[in-house]
Amino acid sequence: MNCPMPDVMNILQMQKMNNKQQSPSTIRFTDLFIDFDDTLYDTHGNAQIALQELFDQMEFGRWFAQPAVFFDEYWKANIDLWTRYSRGEITREYLIIERFRKPLSFGNGCDPDEDLCRAVGDKFLELCADKPGVVDGAHQLMEYLKAKGYKMHMCSNGFHEVQYRKLKASRLYDFFDNIILSEDAGSNKPSAQFFDYAFKVTNANPATTLMIGDNFQTDILGAKRAGIATAFFNRFPDYPPPEAVDFEVHSLLELTTIL
Ligand SMILES: [Mg+2]
Repeated sequence: MNCPMPDVMNILQMQKMNNKQQSPSTIRFTDLFIDFDDTLYDTHGNAQIALQELFDQMEFGRWFAQPAVFFDEYWKANIDLWTRYSRGEITREYLIIERFRKPLSFGNGCDPDEDLCRAVGDKFLELCADKPGVVDGAHQLMEYLKAKGYKMHMCSNGFHEVQYRKLKASRLYDFFDNIILSEDAGSNKPSAQFFDYAFKVTNANPATTLMIGDNFQTDILGAKRAGIATAFFNRFPDYPPPEAVDFEVHSLLELTTIL
């Protein structure tokens, strides 16, 4: 008879189950690669405050009757430039200057030449670097993860001199075992070079490493290509991830149900 006997079927099923790859929900993760900006650190909220300070201190009111015009144009330019920076298409110098050239060009009587844009860019980074605001639940989450013994590695495309100041200002520095910055890796997330560098520095095992981040293109796709599990911090649930992720959370503290 061709049909296997029931006990043989059970054995085959058990063998199949044993051979099956572990699903991410059953993995005991040891190492966490954690994005910083807008995952733990409230980059957007802190930058809004810094932009207002910049506007007041550099007296942009002389060019803008409506401050909202300047702010809106800044955010449009900034998003576009960071996307290009993560792809390695532009340098950090270009980003720092150009993210102010376009918004300032909307000012009445303003001539956004390179000197002005550089001065504004430097002042803005200075104002941003000491802002303490974090995303809701960031400290509670990090205390929880530390107590559970996870090794935590910050993985960020942010600028070297600014990130350390933000880490200190937000009181998040001490939670991390390693700070992995793209400027040290020589390449930005989502590149393979960034993740290779991160594994080299941390000695983490890819099979038990989880990437946590809010940016689908850089954090999640980069980690997927590097073959590690992913937890997408989707802060805007109206926009579902375009590809499957291992975990999706809408608040930081939801991660405590996974980890
Ligand atoms: Mg981010």
